[in-house]
Amino acid sequence: MALYPQPFIDDVRLQADIVQIVQETVSLKRAGATYKGLCPFHGEKTPSFHVNRDRGFFHCFGCGVGGDVFKFVQLRDKVGFGESVRYVAERFGVPVPEVRDRQRDPGADAEREALLKIHEVAAAWFREQLNGPGGAEARRQLAARQVSPATSEALGVGFAPASREGLKARLIKQGFSVAQAVRSGLLAERETGDVVDRFRNRLVIPICRESGSVVAFGGRAMLADQQPKYLNSPETPIYSKSRTLYGLHLSRQAIRRAGYAVLVEGYFDFAQVWQAGIEPVVATCGTALTEPQAHLLRRFAARAVLSFDPDVAGQGAASRSSDLLVAEGFQVSVAVLPQGEDPDTFVRTRGGEAYREAVAGSTPWLDFVMERAAAAHDLSAPEGRLAFVTAMLQVAARLPEATARDQFADRLAHRARISEDVVRAEIRKAAVARKTTVALRQQRGGGELKPAERHLLAAVLNSPEEALRALAGLDEADLEGLASAGILRRARDLAPLPPSAVPGALLERLNEEDARRLTGLAAAAGAPVPPVECARALRMLRYQRERADLQREIDRLQQAGAGAAAGQIDALLQQKSELLSRIEALGSGA
Ligand SMILES: [Zn+2]
Repeated sequence: MALYPQPFIDDVRLQADIVQIVQETVSLKRAGATYKGLCPFHGEKTPSFHVNRDRGFFHCFGCGVGGDVFKFVQLRDKVGFGESVRYVAERFGVPVPEVRDRQRDPGADAEREALLKIHEVAAAWFREQLNGPGGAEARRQLAARQVSPATSEALGVGFAPASREGLKARLIKQGFSVAQAVRSGLLAERETGDVVDRFRNRLVIPICRESGSVVAFGGRAMLADQQPKYLNSPETPIYSKSRTLYGLHLSRQAIRRAGYAVLVEGYFDFAQVWQAGIEPVVATCGTALTEPQAHLLRRFAARAVLSFDPDVAGQGAASRSSDLLVAEGFQVSVAVLPQGEDPDTFVRTRGGEAYREAVAGSTPWLDFVMERAAAAHDLSAPEGRLAFVTAMLQVAARLPEATARDQFADRLAHRARISEDVVRAEIRKAAVARKTTVALRQQRGGGELKPAERHLLAAVLNSPEEALRALAGLDEADLEGLASAGILRRARDLAPLPPSAVPGALLERLNEEDARRLTGLAAAAGAPVPPVECARALRMLRYQRERADLQREIDRLQQAGAGAAAGQIDALLQQKSELLSRIEALGSGA
């Protein structure tokens, strides 16, 4: 990964026109001081994606993404920070310096690069084996699974022969050490100390990042009695199973265009669905969807269609995946397949057109869950109806919108023949209980922003010079305990930079969540409140906190009996009166 000197990065940011970069893929219209367009990171019909040319940042009010020009390129092109800097530099004719010697953890970068290279070599070797004389049986099995040669090539499917040291020999010949190859997960160390190929006698399917670089493999057994049936690469510095969606590198454009993604379970489900021309598809590879995967998918679409065997839908991994998607704000529906079928067998036996229809006719998730639960309970008996409603309340509580919950309550009441009011009240209770836990969790992350903080944060991006001047007048004690303290401290540390470089430099240094918060506030800001007034308000809050603390201490001492503490109380009263005069002075604007 390239590591450029900071002055160069700041320079590129100043030279770059974020509007031009965004317009490479999004058409923007001028709206007052900013530009608006349809967000490229989620499906939408009315523009909520804002770009501020002067301040060099973007923000989407629909899905919450935001950041500077580099962040935009990183998200759009799925590249790292260094690569996005180089892209923007070249685009605006800023000469790119030789990459400086790696300063941060040089070993880790070199290691990642070596691991990527090993996977590249391995993918090519597996392809060779598939197409060579030893791959005849593998080719026959692919043909029997109706995976066309074109699909096999697009997916990069290969074959790992039964030999123990075929890939090992190739990797060593290419100059990799055995230790490196073991760390890549492609070779495995046995208890005897022998190091052998991990994948043997298997069809191997490369697992790629969104950019297309191979980072892992999945291997399917060739023989019926071979265990395990599926063998995957272990987690490595370049591969995290929970953050990877299989096939996204092939389907991301189609998903964005379609506004939805079909979620399937396995590689071969993916292969059949994709081959049948239903391109917006990704695979979770057998496990329940994870939160990072849901976030990843949310960047491309707001709707998800799940297709499962009806026997397993609503249970285990399938149910957890759906719950997670609903909680992440996806519109989820279920394409129910005939019993015992998965997308792979369904497409092969009934054809792509039938599958396309199943997707088009998919049932909204709530209806699906309700019908399943209704079928599982005896709704003619009062106990059955109660058990049914209780089960459904948990589902309803997860719905993020109150109106959706009420609508659901009405349908539930109808189904269970119970009064709507009763059901609505129960759902509300369940939702509140849930919200309380969510709110508590958020509070630990810093609490709510006060209006003065919000305006001051917006000003850091919108009028950095004034904001920095105001920040310089605040002490550490003023910031203490504020939800925005971390961001404000970072902004203050940037004071030596020219003010116009501050917004970008700050966004670059913040974590993703804080950066979003900041661009959101700046893009939403109405009439600006002068930063100096915000600073005054923050100091006033601090004085009031201190005053309350003093008063509490005075009360405590007085209650404990004045005798011994009289001197202490006098001192505190003295402090309090000084504080009051400072509050008065601040209030009168002195
Ligand atoms: Zn968006």
